[in-house]
Amino acid sequence: MLKVGIIGWRGMVGSVLIQRMHEENDFESIDAHFFSTSQSGGKVRILKSQESTLLDAFDADELIKMDILLSCQGGDYTKKMLHPLREKNWSGHWVDAASTLRMNSDAMIVLDPINKEAIDKAIEKGNKNWVGGNCTVSLMLLAIHGLIKKDLVEWVSSMTYQAASGAGAQNMKELLIQMGELSGSLDNIKPDSSILDLDKDVQLMMNSERFTKKLFNAPLAGSLIPWIDEELENGQSREEWKGGVETNKILKSNGHKAFNVDGLCVRIGAMRSHSQALTIKLNKDYPIKEIELLIASANPWVNFVPNNKEKSIKNLSPAAVSGKLSISVGRVRKLNVGENLLSVFTVGDQLLWGAAEPVRRMLNILTNIKL
Ligand code: NAP
Repeated sequence: MLKVGIIGWRGMVGSVLIQRMHEENDFESIDAHFFSTSQSGGKVRILKSQESTLLDAFDADELIKMDILLSCQGGDYTKKMLHPLREKNWSGHWVDAASTLRMNSDAMIVLDPINKEAIDKAIEKGNKNWVGGNCTVSLMLLAIHGLIKKDLVEWVSSMTYQAASGAGAQNMKELLIQMGELSGSLDNIKPDSSILDLDKDVQLMMNSERFTKKLFNAPLAGSLIPWIDEELENGQSREEWKGGVETNKILKSNGHKAFNVDGLCVRIGAMRSHSQALTIKLNKDYPIKEIELLIASANPWVNFVPNNKEKSIKNLSPAAVSGKLSISVGRVRKLNVGENLLSVFTVGDQLLWGAAEPVRRMLNILTNIKL
């Protein structure tokens, strides 16, 4: 059995990955070892059959014993560890959820329902670095897969509504603390309380020094943050930049026609699952009923939601999709502001298809070819 070292298994993405690997019995076909940057030597029961002793994630001599390393630890870890391992002539496969390597020429962004052929070819050519795409990119590509297959897309503008968990486990906890502090500020809530007084209490709390905002640097509960990731010189956030460049890299890798993507990425107070309002410029007039059919039948994960109020409210929300592999796609209609402009709203669990699932499937592709 191949030796697979897993780093970052207790983080947000890593925990979901481990959960999915159990659901799919992936651990039965690999010899799994668990690494930690902070708790090496500790014992954990991740495998059902036995306790595992955590290995030191900074010990290159332990890491190079692995055939495959799968990291959900984050970009700083990748920057620190991959190069020294390659310097030691480690020729194993590195599978990563972090963005660090995505745009490198020796790394492939993996989203196998879209670029499996390209992945197979890259394996044959000896590629060793495999990276899951940005969460909103992978979710968007699967949501509009039907339009991509038909080469119907000229450009996409994506307005995102991204959950706290997109920033990691600690940030998710900070959102919960903020929610608690806001509701704690309302201990005098009564049926006849003045709404203006209650609102004033909330505003005072969220703008006070004692409000917890160590990680987000701003109130997220009861508010939003219109910037995700670093600031680039052209006015885009790095998250917005990723939308365009990663989409193009994934599509081109598999011979699909590439298209431009730009928009605005916003953090909202949802716990889990990212939503996106897409404006899609089609390159030709296409009947709406056929567009709906293309989207609905593109892959097994699209859950097409007819454009009516009842079904949209019920199915197109983080609350409805969190924890599920299906990606809800709805509010599909032609916009009235120009020719061939399509409106689509999509919601998917960014920890599943947006992060853990593409790397889990890549691990399976590698273990199935018995390197
Ligand atoms: P995370 O939740 O912050 O976890 C990263 C590491 O933080 C863990 O492996 C753990 O390492 C350490 N950690 C410290 N205190 C912790 C605590 N109380 N609970 C859990 N972990 C703790 O990061 P993540 O969101 O999983 O992201 C990992 C990588 O995936 C990042 O590069 C991110 O950009 C990328 N990614 C994330 C998402 C997403 O939606 N979150 C989506 C796509 C890609 P030790 O056990 O070694 O201490």
